[in-house]
Amino acid sequence: MGNSEDTNKNKDEVEKEENKNVLQSTRTVIKRALDRLGYPQEVFELMKEPLRMLTVRIPIRMDDGSIHIFTGFRAQHNDAVGPTKGGVRFHPDVSETEVKALSIWMSLKAGIVDLPYGGGKGGIICDPREMSFPELERLSRGYVRAISQIVGPTKDIPAPDVFTNSQIMAWMMDEYSRIKEFDSPGFITGKPIVLGGSHGRESATAKGVTICIREAAKKKGINLEGARIVIQGFGNAGSFLAKFMHDTGAKVIAISDVYGGLHDPDGLDIDYLLDRRDSFGTVTKLFKDTISNSELLELDCDILVPAAIENQITKENVQKIKAEIIVEAANGPTTIEATEHLNERGVLLVPDVLASAGGVTVSYFEWVQNNQGYYWTEEEVEERLEKVMVSAFDNVYKVATSRKVDMRLAAYMVGVRKMAEASRFRGWI
Ligand code: GLU
Repeated sequence: MGNSEDTNKNKDEVEKEENKNVLQSTRTVIKRALDRLGYPQEVFELMKEPLRMLTVRIPIRMDDGSIHIFTGFRAQHNDAVGPTKGGVRFHPDVSETEVKALSIWMSLKAGIVDLPYGGGKGGIICDPREMSFPELERLSRGYVRAISQIVGPTKDIPAPDVFTNSQIMAWMMDEYSRIKEFDSPGFITGKPIVLGGSHGRESATAKGVTICIREAAKKKGINLEGARIVIQGFGNAGSFLAKFMHDTGAKVIAISDVYGGLHDPDGLDIDYLLDRRDSFGTVTKLFKDTISNSELLELDCDILVPAAIENQITKENVQKIKAEIIVEAANGPTTIEATEHLNERGVLLVPDVLASAGGVTVSYFEWVQNNQGYYWTEEEVEERLEKVMVSAFDNVYKVATSRKVDMRLAAYMVGVRKMAEASRFRGWI
């Protein structure tokens, strides 16, 4: 008993420390970007924290009759450019610090793909894998009631994130519409198509990552036909990405989920794995012959895509990473030290704030369609996403080359500029 409590305490402390580091390292890169762009210290002071951070406690009746009080957050980083925008995650490890860092990342993403938004993010400390459907519905509705005064189609627009999906968005939209007494599809994105969702939203993050992989491979002279790809994580981004890469003729030689990884140097049977995958993105439990997540990162491959969680490539394992291209589909998978090391070695790293911006881009398309009440075809969505991602990639690559900085710093420079300018024009700084 004593032992397991100690282990729990250590785990909690390690997580707290990691979240602090994630926020700290985001701030460090923002500071470097602002310095490079010649902005004074006040701009950094404005950007290092969200403008608003709401913590709510949500009492929910569980199926067994008991009441559980859940804690939730909504952070609004900066709304100088426009309403804030970003997902809501349901996860036991959600914390105030993590939500803050994630809201800053959303501001950067919006700047990089040039959307008329600032960044926002929300989260609830809970484990949806242990909750029933009715409990999840009550929690989703309870969260909207708790934050309804600070969100809305022209204020702050939520979306899916880790362990939240279109059904949860539908409940949230319904609750918000009830509170406001009018139908408000533009309150939230990532909805089911019949409720005003956009074609292509579900696979948008993976599509954006696929475009970044293709553009990065061109720069490195790697032919994607037969290229060996390793994907860490088999959630929304990882699973769609595996399918897209497989369809383009690349060889997906390894994938993983929280339980472990599967590796086959000749390429995995992706269609079979997708078929057996559960709704929380796990599949490896069905296999005996698995590798660990850390072994997976160190596999011999051309392209590595961390599509799971934070702090995966660190100074401890960076020397053993063999990929020539790393495309970050997850938020914050590589630490600052590891980024510097990879850059020195000539590895092309496409950072999270650029690579994973396809999701919020199609969310923006969804919101535009909701506001105009006119809906686009899947082809129209894809064509527009392609244009946005290619031009964002080119822009960041150009800044990296011309200013002689790594792709992460270049992306941050592009990402903060519009927000800084908008804050200046408004007279905030
Ligand atoms: N949660 C996604 C992200 O981190 C999507 C946000 C959105 O669609 O607004 O980019």
